[in-house]
Amino acid sequence: MNNETLLKNLRNIPNFPIPGIQFKDVTTLFKSNECLKIMLNELYEIYKDKGITKVVGIESRGFVLGAALAVKLGAGFVMCRKQGKLPADTLQETYMKEYGKDTIEIHKDAIEEKDVVLLHDDLLATGGSMKAAYNLVKQFNPSQVYINFIIELNGEGLNGREVFDKDCEISTLLRI
Ligand code: AMP
Repeated sequence: MNNETLLKNLRNIPNFPIPGIQFKDVTTLFKSNECLKIMLNELYEIYKDKGITKVVGIESRGFVLGAALAVKLGAGFVMCRKQGKLPADTLQETYMKEYGKDTIEIHKDAIEEKDVVLLHDDLLATGGSMKAAYNLVKQFNPSQVYINFIIELNGEGLNGREVFDKDCEISTLLRI
């Protein structure tokens, strides 16, 4: 938890994309092979014995480690995308973000009841976007759902964890 190398490499962009937001820029973690390895290995250690069969990545920063982790875990990878991007039949959910409103979608045939699902994204702020993805995944009635973020923001009254069911296991690599 709170690996020094990750903290040192994470870039903060003040007032992006709107005034007042301290944007945690994970591109500086992704461009470092050392950071990628640290993150992937930490994630693998957390989830290697959970029987994960599908990793669901949230567009777009959730795709990077989500897909790499799926390979390492021997799981499949599913994309949760912004509205209008997925080509086949989808389920949809609209949610409020820390800034603005959005709709995400998942393919109707992406998950089966027997799946053990790990939802992954780069950052937890209010929890709105992951809750929308969680609601989508729950519609498939999978046997188990886990949630992971690289970063959890706890400052400024944010407590994104509270929006999820109490029995849902949530892990984060960095808490800021
Ligand atoms: P939320 O739905 O409020 O938990 O916001 C999380 C989503 O919005 C993630 O996909 C993040 O990539 C993005 N996001 C929200 N706030 C920030 C922030 N301060 N820095 C970087 N990304 C953010």
